Amino acid sequence: MRYCWAMSNKTIEKLLKERTDLLSELGTLSCMLHGSWVERFSVCSRANCKCHKGHKHGPRHYLVINENNQQRQKYIPNAQVIAAKAGRSDYKRVCEIIDRITHINLALMKKDAYEN
Ligand SMILES: [Zn+2]
Repeated sequence: MRYCWAMSNKTIEKLLKERTDLLSELGTLSCMLHGSWVERFSVCSRANCKCHKGHKHGPRHYLVINENNQQRQKYIPNAQVIAAKAGRSDYKRVCEIIDRITHINLALMKKDAYEN
């Protein structure tokens, strides 16, 4: 019995440590962006422009986000494209962390250590 109790305590400790680490990692994901990526090419109003002969302008980048239950395309300046793409990866990591913490918390609940 004593051995099992010790093992159980070690598991709780491990889970609490992992949860703490994941929560700190969340703090590093400040550039997260939640949305779909869209690239668009366009045609301008200048009659003699190359864009009318197949060489369209672009791509221009947009993040499609949900705003008040409606989809909105938000323009992403070219200078921010790389950072914004990294921000989308950050968001995916945030979701992974939330899922993992949910599993950890459910395991802790079974061991009566959920609110530690
Ligand atoms: Zn043009």
